Amino acid sequence: MSGSTERLDVINPATEEILDTIPLGTAADVDAAVDRARDAFPAWAGTPLPERLGYLAALADELERCTDDLTALITAEVGTPLSECRSAQVGLPIAVLRDTVEVAAAHPWRERCGRSEVWREPAGVVGAITPWNFPLHQIVAKMAPALAAGCTFVLKPSEVAPLNALVLFDALKAVGLPPGVANVVLGTGPVVGEAIAGHPGVDVVSFTGSVRAGTRVAEVAARNVTRVALELGGKSPNVILPDADLDRAVPAGVGQAFVNAGQACIALSRMLVPADRLAEAEELARRSVARIVVGDPLDPSTTMGPVVSAAQRDRIRGFVTDAVDDGARVVAGGPDTPEGLDRGFFVRPTVLSGVTNATTVSRQEVFGPVLVLLPYRDENEAVALANDTPFGLSAGVWSSDPDHARQVAARLRAGQVKINGARTRDHIRAPFGGYKRSGIGRELGPFGLDEFLELKAVLT
Ligand code: NAD
Repeated sequence: MSGSTERLDVINPATEEILDTIPLGTAADVDAAVDRARDAFPAWAGTPLPERLGYLAALADELERCTDDLTALITAEVGTPLSECRSAQVGLPIAVLRDTVEVAAAHPWRERCGRSEVWREPAGVVGAITPWNFPLHQIVAKMAPALAAGCTFVLKPSEVAPLNALVLFDALKAVGLPPGVANVVLGTGPVVGEAIAGHPGVDVVSFTGSVRAGTRVAEVAARNVTRVALELGGKSPNVILPDADLDRAVPAGVGQAFVNAGQACIALSRMLVPADRLAEAEELARRSVARIVVGDPLDPSTTMGPVVSAAQRDRIRGFVTDAVDDGARVVAGGPDTPEGLDRGFFVRPTVLSGVTNATTVSRQEVFGPVLVLLPYRDENEAVALANDTPFGLSAGVWSSDPDHARQVAARLRAGQVKINGARTRDHIRAPFGGYKRSGIGRELGPFGLDEFLELKAVLT
């Protein structure tokens, strides 16, 4: 328990009511948590793999039992509509836990490399810092492989949506995870997050969040030459090739831009369309947005809830207002409050056209439901526009010819390319992470497990 007396309100973004308050931890709390994790490390690292994986399987079962409560809680914390929350916010982390068990059981823990042996060993104490948008998933995507690897774990969840982490830690207790193996410190980034990143007792820092905070984490960790994995932002292109079926590609693309009210690092927020079909794409996008039901996330008919906070709402509106002032054409939505939704942090899902790839709204991550349509003249220009971004997390390609789509995918500088509407959540074993400023390292599957392992060469 934190020695700090400072507390922070957790706000329900749909009602603006206080959901709960949390204690804000201190650097001393981090010291204590890292000490517990270091003490627990030798025994956990020495626990046979099947036993470690048994805890993860039991945790998946336990979370499954809590699915209704967790779904309601994350809907209240983040605003994800109930219908989507169950699968995307709760089902996904449970699936990741189960997949990690399979992946770790089949991992090449010891293999030959030329004349030597290579042993994979737990890296030590992992410090994890996570965001609010898919809060439970982002914790589990680090915790499951870290524990499977034999590492011990210190977590700082997002202070914006921290309550689900407490349910997770109750579940860890329920499955009897030995004390000190997993630890949580609630608090803010600059205090608790930096204390974790800069702690000499932390061996790997695994961070998911903004480029701004990730850069700071890397700077602080560098003082101890601590390994860092960074999952950062994106401004991902969705390249709709001339031979694609626009009737399918545009509505699906709108969906992939607006998942979780656009608060997804992998949101395909730039849609590239053939210039001579821009008007057709605009009309299809307008009709897709008209079908979105923005409102109370508890209402089963709602397909888009609020954004997470007043600050996010104001930021998103600012992007739209500035783009319109700079000459953008509003195809759908706009900066105003959606009708009848004055309470709660609601924004209108917005599609903009008549902008270039050089404008702010095309270059910066909005992290809200704002999609820009960008016309291109030929495939080379489409690829050049797609890659003309500081980010490289995700990308989409649409074509009626899968080989053609693959040829274009090969030219895209992104950690993940989704062909014809494939969804990240259906590919949880695939490496997840970014090129360029979208980060360093990969999560999920065997490549994600390697982030928490050291390689030892044994020469005989
Ligand atoms: P954020 O960077 O504000 O916060 C993320 C976490 O970092 C929080 O726990 C926060 O408290 C902590 N933090 C903030 N400042 C810190 C500091 N100086 N030192 C250490 N920790 C600090 O991001 P957010 O608003 O919670 O999430 C949105 C961002 O996360 C977006 O940019 C989004 O693209 C990114 N994101 C990336 C991925 C991915 O896997 N690539 C996934 C989800 C979100």
